[in-house]
Amino acid sequence: MSIHIQQVNKHFGNFVAVDSVNLEIKTGELTALLGPSGSGKTTLLRIIAGLEQADSGIVKFNGEDITTQHVSERGVGFVFQHYALFKHMTVFENVAYGLTVRPRKTRPSKAEIAEKVHSLLKLVQLDWTADRYPSQLSGGQRQRIALARALAVEPKVLLLDEPFGALDAKVRAELRRWLRRLHDEINVTTVFVTHDQEEALEVADKIVVMNKGRIEQQGTPEEVYDTPSNPFVYEFLGNV
Ligand code: ADP
Repeated sequence: MSIHIQQVNKHFGNFVAVDSVNLEIKTGELTALLGPSGSGKTTLLRIIAGLEQADSGIVKFNGEDITTQHVSERGVGFVFQHYALFKHMTVFENVAYGLTVRPRKTRPSKAEIAEKVHSLLKLVQLDWTADRYPSQLSGGQRQRIALARALAVEPKVLLLDEPFGALDAKVRAELRRWLRRLHDEINVTTVFVTHDQEEALEVADKIVVMNKGRIEQQGTPEEVYDTPSNPFVYEFLGNV
């Protein structure tokens, strides 16, 4: 699924959060929205998701205008910073959730759901946790479960908002590799928000540097790091 964002604007009161953004994301690409806090990354991600409506501009999936389409119709999967796993449900029930809440007509059978959940748990190498509760897992394991859960509904687009921000450095490094590996296996178009240059450099095919609601530069990690296009990008990336 390709994503096209054309002249998108979003303000909160007098504050311009997203300022005339144009962006193209190719099918299967793993893209990082990178920038300092308050630069509009999350707002842009939420506009792509359909969790936030832009004031103006167009969002297209595979060339189709979906600007006014509801989040539930867009076929997106999410992972948030604070693993929004349901505490009262087992790991199995958490991963199965998106499938079990489908309308009866499109809901897979119990056996199909079980097969899907176990294959996803195997993919994140946590099949042995199926009957446990989130509180019995480490932070890194929970976030791998959150990834499995987001993938259960076979999203056309996977969106992650500071997915590893709450974890310590070692676990974060491990999860970056997980994200990259899962992405390469499933090849779903993925956009993740981070303020961590290293994370963007290690994981992404393409980095989009944002500042004050605008895109300062975009390109492969090498392009952005080797030839920063302006003093902001140079300074921001220099502060690793
Ligand atoms: P980032 O993800 O880069 O940190 P955000 O997109 O979260 O940036 O936010 C950009 C700015 O927009 C922030 O300064 C924030 O205060 C403001 N903002 C975001 N969401 C809202 C909201 N719902 N209401 C008011 N202001 C908001």
